[in-house]
Parts: sequence; structure tokens; C-alpha cells
Amino acid sequence: LTATPDSDFLGFELLLDDDGRALLERVRGHMTSVVEPVINDHWTRAEFPHDLLPGFAELGIAGLPYDGPECPGRSALLDGMISMELARVDPSIATFFGVHGGLAMGSIQLCGSEEQQERWLPAMARMELIGAFGLTEPEHGSGIAGGLATTARRDGDSWVLDGEKKWIGNASFADLVVIWARDVEDDQVKGFVVEQGTEGMTFDLQEDKIALRVVQNASIHLAGVRVPESHRLARADSFDDTAQVLRLTRMGVAWMATGCARGAYEHALRYTGEREQFGKPIASFQLVQDLLVRMLGNVAASTAMCVRVSQLQDAGTVRDEHASLAKAFSTVRMRETVGWAREVLGGNGILLEHHVGRFVADAEAIYSYEGTREINTLIVGRAITGVGAFV
Ligand code: FAD
Repeated sequence: LTATPDSDFLGFELLLDDDGRALLERVRGHMTSVVEPVINDHWTRAEFPHDLLPGFAELGIAGLPYDGPECPGRSALLDGMISMELARVDPSIATFFGVHGGLAMGSIQLCGSEEQQERWLPAMARMELIGAFGLTEPEHGSGIAGGLATTARRDGDSWVLDGEKKWIGNASFADLVVIWARDVEDDQVKGFVVEQGTEGMTFDLQEDKIALRVVQNASIHLAGVRVPESHRLARADSFDDTAQVLRLTRMGVAWMATGCARGAYEHALRYTGEREQFGKPIASFQLVQDLLVRMLGNVAASTAMCVRVSQLQDAGTVRDEHASLAKAFSTVRMRETVGWAREVLGGNGILLEHHVGRFVADAEAIYSYEGTREINTLIVGRAITGVGAFV
């Protein structure tokens, strides 16, 4: 029995130009031939595959949609499809790129001066410098906008940072960590690029995660960390500027969720063609086909929503609530889909060697980061009713 694992059922990739499709193919080939064979081992050991970085750099996908110096400057649609492609094989690698190429490079692209962009973006695009993005704090997650407690105090030509951050991806090995802190003078949130090794900045790796184990998340302790004024992001004057960065990257997470669902669906489809029970491939049973078609429907619907919102990004007409709807919708569909994929694998669904178990676990983190389902729902709720249910 042949099961075709081509889950681009409605041909969304045809919306890309030839160059875009060629890049997608290159990324797909790299992920399936280089990453897939080794990723379960890294996941088990909770280790980041540093040896794979040069190969990733050659793909030229870091900071894909940004048009800063030496950045690729491609469409949001292509960037989204690449995020989906990465997550389709491994959500941890997709998350690594979301942090480095999305959040960290995005902060410098959107909030840095021209001089700051020239200084950092080319090396980040070539992945000679890796970035991290430090916003969340131990006591302030969803409510970070009003609650951010890390402080920045101006002292002559430099700034002194004090506080705690939590969950910061790549932080322990990144060359540059963007730290968001509240200016004690004007009470506004500002961004600072802190170099690895700066005195007073230390890390504790987040141990024993049950999801995205390949991603290295860390708590950051900032005790009297001194950074020069030239490292303060020149165009970040308030949390509204931080929010601009999140607005861009939230769509990347919607695409990743769709990729995570798509990867799980493809493994499940392949498995149902190979596994026999009652003398027949399980793909021939009506109840199994029902689950496969539900999964495919989820993937197609999420992709369609992501495509449309990315087109709005490219047209410059996207609104917060568009990205929030896509993130909330696609992550709910992802959670449902990976659960069904696990179901059709029976007991093998909980074995790492069949990959689906990794997607099930990783989905839990994607569901919550960059705005939980509740927070994204409330952003859409406020837009459609005109009444804000949270501050
Ligand atoms: P909380 O805000 O404590 O929320 C707990 C629950 O309460 C959630 O269900 C939430 O939806 C609900 N809730 C909260 N407020 C309301 C409300 N007003 N109405 C209804 N329900 C509400 N952060 C970074 O800065 N950089 C990173 O690189 C980064 N990487 C991450 C990687 C991973 C794997 C994870 C898990 C997180 C990462 N984060 C990062 C942090 C992430 O963005 C936060 O976890 C997220 O914003 C949620 O915050 P919280 O975990 O503190 O949950």
C-alpha cells in the first residue's frame, strides 16, 4: 500500500516564486538528510547540535524577511514557509531560528540605529554571531508589558542593568543577548545588546524540560551589568517598540505550529501504510482514515490562515489580532493533530524512534510561548468586541 506523505495537499507552495521554492527544497533536503537522523539523540540528551551550525549558516535563512545590511530581505510568506519546513522535521531547530533570526535580529532591525544594524546584522545573518532575546521574567510572563521589573540605570556613558530573566532560548551560548529593562528615570522599557561574557551576567540552564529539549533555555541573572550607551537600541523608547518585534515573530510561531502538526501527520500517514493488523494495513480501516483526514484538514486550514496573514504582512496591512488569531488557531489545531498522530501509531506512538512522540511533547511548549492561547484569544476578543478583557 502506498501512502503519499505529500501534505501540501492544496498546493500552497505554488504561491512562491521559483527561487522561493528552490530554497524551500534545500531546507527540506537539509532537514531530512542531516537533522532528522540525529535529532532524537540530541533531544534525549537535551543537547543543542552546535556541530550543525555551519550547515545551517550555508542555507542563508537567518533573518530571512529583514532588509537590513546583508540580510536576505525575502517575503514574510517565504519566511513563514521556511519556519514550517524546519518545524516539520524538528520544532526545536525551528525555535532556535525563531529566537536568533526572528526575535534577536528583529530587535536590532526594528529598534537599532543604522550604525547598530551595520555592526551586528551582517554577522548575525551569516550566523557568525548568534543572538538571544531576554524579555520574560520569573514573575512576569503574560503580564510582562506592565510588570517588567528588570531595571536600567544611566551612569555617565553607560547603563547598569539589574534583574532576572527566565526561559531565554540560546542565552547560554549566544554571542549577543537583547535584554529588555525598565529605565528607572522615565519608567519606559528599553532594549540593550549585552555581549556574552559581560561581567555580572550569569546563567542557569533550565533542566529537565519535557518539551523542546534541544533548545537551551536559561534563566539570566543580571547583577550590576554595565553596557555602553552605544549598546542601547536607539529606536526602542517604550514597550510599544518591543511589541513591534513580537508582532513580527508571532506569525513565525503560527507557522511552526503548523509545521509541527504537518510533521506528525506525515509520520502517521507513512506508518499506517506499513503497519498491518487483522491481515491488512491499518490505513485501510475507516476509523484510521477518518483520523488521517481530520489531521490533513487541520494542517490545510492552519496553512491557509498562515498564508493569508503572511500576505497581509507583505502588504503592510497586518494587525496584531491577525497574527494572534493565526497563533491561537494553529496551536490548538496542532495539539489536536499531534494527539491523533500518536493515536494511530498505537504503542509505538510513545517511542522516540518513531518521531511522533517528540512532536507531541514539543507541541506543549509551542502552545504556550510567544503569547499563550488565552492571551492571543483576548487580543482578538478585544479587536472584535471593542472591549479589552485584560490590561
Ligand atoms: P503565565 O503568564 O504565568 O500564564 C499562566 C496561565 O495563565 C496561562 O495559561 C495564561 O494564558 C493564563 N493567563 C495569564 N494571564 C491571563 C489573563 N489575563 N487572562 C486569562 N488567562 C491568563 N521568553 C523570552 O523572553 N525569550 C525566549 O527566548 C523565550 N523562550 C521560551 C521558550 C520556551 C520553551 C518557553 C516555554 C517559554 C519561552 N519564553 C521566552 C517565555 C514565554 O514567552 C512565556 O512562557 C509566555 O509568555 C507565558 O508566560 P508564563 O509562562 O509566565 O505563563
